[in-house]
Amino acid sequence: MTTETGAQVRVAITGAAGRMGRTLVRAIGAHADCILAAAVEHGESPALGADAGILAGVDALGVAVVADLGDVLPGVDVVVDFTTPEATRRHAELCAEAGVAMVVGTTGLGEADEAALAAASQKAAVVTAPNFSVGVNLALRLVRLAAEVLGDTADIEIIEMHHRHKVDAPSGTALRMGEVVAEALDRELEVVAAHGRRGRGDPRAGSAIGFHALRGGDVVGDHSVVFACEGERIEITHKASDRMTFASGAVRAAAWAAVQAPGAYGMEAVLGLD
Ligand code: NAD
Repeated sequence: MTTETGAQVRVAITGAAGRMGRTLVRAIGAHADCILAAAVEHGESPALGADAGILAGVDALGVAVVADLGDVLPGVDVVVDFTTPEATRRHAELCAEAGVAMVVGTTGLGEADEAALAAASQKAAVVTAPNFSVGVNLALRLVRLAAEVLGDTADIEIIEMHHRHKVDAPSGTALRMGEVVAEALDRELEVVAAHGRRGRGDPRAGSAIGFHALRGGDVVGDHSVVFACEGERIEITHKASDRMTFASGAVRAAAWAAVQAPGAYGMEAVLGLD
């Protein structure tokens, strides 16, 4: 997929020195239709001025890390942002002003951050997903089907595990799994979500959707949805073993977003699952 002129899609990576940023630089190198046009970090980053390719552990790409997305936006078709909620909000404001498409993977977004992304989606395509892996998006489909078939006969608990550096809990993917279950069963997630358990209390409410977040080591991302019924149990599990699965999905989304009309999209739209 290329732009209307047939040129490669020019991608900017924000958070280029981060775990995902460096993986995204490598993923762009592997995608024939995309080219790295800019790499951005925050103003205090030791990575400023470094070559984004060298940072990512590949050959030099001639793209130096800069501190301000606004300076490079005129030469960019899509911004791929895996940073922090505050940075994502700022980048969404800049993209809205410039009418540049975005692919956003940052999790733990607050209301103001979501509002900035909604405003940006009025001006250009904005793809957001708590998880850009194809496998997780398939797992979400299976979770919806299981919830629809099992209905209120199942007690549903969601367990996730991530590396020790992750700061938000539960993960955005676990929350999305909870939303999918709640939608299928006509429940209000904010009302029925039960986060962890400790001490004595009432027995489990039948409508509860439980969340349990494990942190440790270098786990890239494990998610299980447990449907516990009388006499049987179904578990739908996805395990990511390499960040490249998220990065290649996000770059696929970038190539797609570059040629879409303004609007807010999810990974289902990119994958044609809608
Ligand atoms: P990380 O801390 O390794 O990387 C974040 C990077 O953003 C850092 O290099 C940081 O310096 C940079 N940054 C912070 N403020 C910035 C600013 N103002 N401008 C430019 N850069 C800035 O974290 P990570 O593991 O790469 O994860 C980043 C985010 O992506 C997290 O929210 C994580 O949960 C999410 N994530 C999403 C998916 C998905 O598929 N949607 C997958 C993995 C991670």
